[in-house]
This record gives sequence, C-alpha cells and structure tokens, in this order.
Amino acid sequence: MAVTRTFSIIKPDATRRNLTGAVTAKLEEAGLRVVASKRIQMTRDQAEGFYAVHKERPFFGELVDFMISGPVVVQVLEGENAMQANRDIMGATNPADAAPGTIRAEFAESIEANSVHGSDSDENAAIEIAYFFKPEEIVG
Ligand code: ADP
Ligand code: MG
Repeated sequence: MAVTRTFSIIKPDATRRNLTGAVTAKLEEAGLRVVASKRIQMTRDQAEGFYAVHKERPFFGELVDFMISGPVVVQVLEGENAMQANRDIMGATNPADAAPGTIRAEFAESIEANSVHGSDSDENAAIEIAYFFKPEEIVG
C-alpha cells in the first residue's frame, strides 16, 4: 500500500471543548502523521466554497454557520492509504452509528457537530489540501 495524504478538519465543537489534542492523538494512534496543521477562523466565503458540493442539501446553511462558529484546525495527514485510514478512525457521520473507539463515537455532539471532517477520496483530498495549504506549509 502506498503512503498518501489526506485532509482533516477538527471542527468548532471539538476546539471549543479543548479536544484538539485528544482528536490528534486518535489520528496519530491510527498511524497517521500530521505533516501540516494550523488553527484558523474560517470566513463564510471560505466555508461555503469548501462545502460547495453540499449546497443543495437542506442542512447547508446550518453547516456553514456551524463551521464558522469558532476556530477550526485544518491538517494534512500522511500515512498508508491515509484517506481510508482517516475515514476509519473518524467513524460514521452520525455519532449514533459510529463504531466504538472512533473519534465521532467518543467525541461528537450530533450529526452536525461531529468533531471532524475527512476527505472522501484521494482526488478530493488533493483539492481540499490545496484549498487551505501552500506546498511549502506541508513538511513530511
Ligand atoms: P462526512 O463528514 O461523514 O463525510 P457528509 O459529507 O455527508 O459527511 O456531510 C458533511 C457534513 O455535513 C457532516 O460531517 C456533518 O457535519 C454535516 N451533516 C451531514 N448530514 C447532516 C444532517 N442530516 N444534518 C445536519 N448536518 C449534517
Ligand atoms: Mg463528506
């Protein structure tokens, strides 16, 4: 299996509860390496652009409001099949469905405030990494 990169966001519900370290520890325990990380306050434009794929979904407006409700930590993760490894440790979108031990099972507050984002394909990972990071900000 190849070493690849994926994109992660620690969402405002998690930063608010001071869970940045706890979430990052889960990622590292899953074999992922944080090769870029920064804490930012997303603008409305930035959040709408990032989630443009969801703009027809009924929860789009609330999702954008939530994502700009506080700071987030955007990260690039590296590891063996990083996209799938990250999706596995994140758990299902709805924490009620998330497997025990996953980030969402342990930390998420709701289907919306579910603590983490993770890219869902290698193609989207590349797009999402480029949305937030310059190449020189990523140090493998
Ligand atoms: P995932 O983050 O697991 O890839 P999606 O891409 O389907 O999930 O959705 C993006 C984000 O939108 C979710 O992580 C969650 O914050 C929010 N969301 C998804 N479904 C709902 C819903 N039914 N109601 C409110 N928010 C939702
Ligand atoms: Mg998704």
